Amino acid sequence: MGLPEPTRPEPTNCECCKRNRNPARSFSLDHDHPTGKFRGWLCYSCNSAIGKLGDNLAGLMRAVEYLRRFECVAKARRPFAFRAQRYAPVGK
Ligand SMILES: [Zn+2]
Repeated sequence: MGLPEPTRPEPTNCECCKRNRNPARSFSLDHDHPTGKFRGWLCYSCNSAIGKLGDNLAGLMRAVEYLRRFECVAKARRPFAFRAQRYAPVGK
């Protein structure tokens, strides 16, 4: 089975993290491996991270739960304004 046909053109921002595309690297064509259906366009980091976490919600939720254990510590170290600025989608 080859890569699926994308149902929309490659965007200028990653459909997961919303960051701009690196001009030197095109987005990955993300697809559901069991069905082969196109899901979206992802930057290398998002595509790699999702795959390394098992390419499923269970794996991603384990990572979320892990980070939640430290959320109160992270908030105490970094003021909200700094965090919002760092993680705001490009163009906002
Ligand atoms: Zn991304």
